[in-house]
Amino acid sequence: MGKPTGFMEFDRLDKKEVDIKERIKNFNDFHIPFDIETQINQASRCMNCGIPFCQSAMTINSRKVGCPLSNLIPETNDLIYLGLFHEAYKRLEKTAPFPEFTGNVCPALCEACCTCSINGKAVGVKANELFLIEEAFKNGWIKPNTNIKRNGKKVAIVGSGPSGLSCAKALNNAGFDVTIYEKNDRIGGLLMYGIPNMKLEKHIIDRRVNLLKEEGIKFITNTKVGKDISMDELVKNYDEIVFACGTSKARPLVCNGSDAKGVLYAVDFLRETTKNLLDKTDFTYNLKDKNVIIVGGGDTANDCCGTAARENAKSITEIEITDEPPLENTVPWPNYPNKKKTDYGVAEANYLKGSDIRIYNTTIDEVVAKDGKVVGVYTKKVKFEKGRFVDIPNTRNYLDCDYLIIAMGFLGTSEEDANSYNMTMNRNRFNLNKFSYNDKISICGDMKNGQSLVVVALKDGIDCANEIIKKYNV
Ligand SMILES: Cc1cc2nc3c(=O)[nH]c(=O)nc-3n(C[C@H](O)[C@H](O)[C@H](O)COP(=O)(O)OP(=O)(O)OC[C@H]3O[C@@H](n4cnc5c(N)ncnc54)[C@H](O)[C@@H]3O)c2cc1C
Ligand code: SF4
Ligand code: SF4
Repeated sequence: MGKPTGFMEFDRLDKKEVDIKERIKNFNDFHIPFDIETQINQASRCMNCGIPFCQSAMTINSRKVGCPLSNLIPETNDLIYLGLFHEAYKRLEKTAPFPEFTGNVCPALCEACCTCSINGKAVGVKANELFLIEEAFKNGWIKPNTNIKRNGKKVAIVGSGPSGLSCAKALNNAGFDVTIYEKNDRIGGLLMYGIPNMKLEKHIIDRRVNLLKEEGIKFITNTKVGKDISMDELVKNYDEIVFACGTSKARPLVCNGSDAKGVLYAVDFLRETTKNLLDKTDFTYNLKDKNVIIVGGGDTANDCCGTAARENAKSITEIEITDEPPLENTVPWPNYPNKKKTDYGVAEANYLKGSDIRIYNTTIDEVVAKDGKVVGVYTKKVKFEKGRFVDIPNTRNYLDCDYLIIAMGFLGTSEEDANSYNMTMNRNRFNLNKFSYNDKISICGDMKNGQSLVVVALKDGIDCANEIIKKYNV
């Protein structure tokens, strides 16, 4: 079994990428897949560890370690090495509902704790996963499951993000009659209208949604539960209601002038850009030749940088409230590394500027507007003291700004939305004991756990479905 010396013979390779200069001319995926021989060699690096941390799905110090889906990583790697791609795919599909999503966007928690990474480089598990699912589609191994024995129970799922979709798939396979309600015009949640096209091309989502439709799941778009259809109606028509609405309430920027035109929330900006691309319409927010400032230093801010670069912004600056992360990792294996990373979008903006666009220990003090439209911002330096950020006096600095994009994270569900579901909130979380229709309602994904990852949302959707299946003993 396997190739015991693969990790000594072959270095880990990362997929080649289209040059920044070229790739920012469009919104296409810029990763170049391996050829088959390279893919097999990469898979052969897996040591088939006795204790495979990669698939452990543990939580250490409140952080996820290993694949939350517990994908059978050593087995699939080995089967790829042996050239048994179909068998490898059969292992993958046992636990991974949509490997084409995770294979593109997962931060690969599995790789962070791979044993090979203790004193070398991790096995490229994510690339293996994407290779397998694309082989499966190419070779027609994925067929809609239309031979499902129905159990007569009806479930409404509110929200079509990864948690709603994985929950729907599991319930549908178990015989439930599933209808997904989505307020947007397209299915996919943040996969569709958050994560930009260059990270996940949208035809990949449509391909899977078409399969789910063929399997019997019904999708109702442009319908907001609580507004276009009432809770009473849902309760009357369905045996179970699953809320998978994500986190709609963005953390606001609180300072003078923050209500000026041109101050945008990141998800609104990213959603409009993807919608413009798919609808082939002009950009709603046209960043061409504009000075763009992005507040926040996480993955969402990075996606905004990449999007602004593709819209030919004149300048892109990222303002981060925290310290600059260390250049070398400070946490021991198997934790997810803590070090400064430069993801694709920031790398592109750095390339355009010719230096690092990130300014640390800084926040916005005031938005300056002219005729109601942002023209600049005053920033200020801050430091973290006794559990909070405090201002450093006399550090105000003026920057020209035409668009200020807020990417400061999310605070959960808005009170307004919660009220429309007849739910009560407690410090941004739902109070489970006070649901009006307690016995019929479940919550999953980011709506339950707060802002997280696609892979976590997928697992939570499956867990939620399993609870319902257990309840009806089907
Ligand atoms: C910009 C951005 C980039 C990200 N990049 C990554 C990444 O690269 N990798 C990664 O792993 N994670 C990433 N994430 C996080 C990831 O996208 C989320 O954790 C995940 O999508 C959560 O899934 P979900 O199903 O819980 O909710 P969501 O994906 O938020 O889906 C919720 C859905 O519910 C719908 N909805 C809400 N209310 C109603 C209602 N009342 N009626 C009907 N429909 C409703 C919404 O329109 C939405 O479609 C990113 C997040 C953002 C914002
Ligand atoms: S889903 Fe993510 S964590 Fe799990 S095996 Fe795939 S890349 Fe790794
Ligand atoms: S930890 Fe790494 S080397 Fe070990 S089984 Fe998992 S992927 Fe293979």
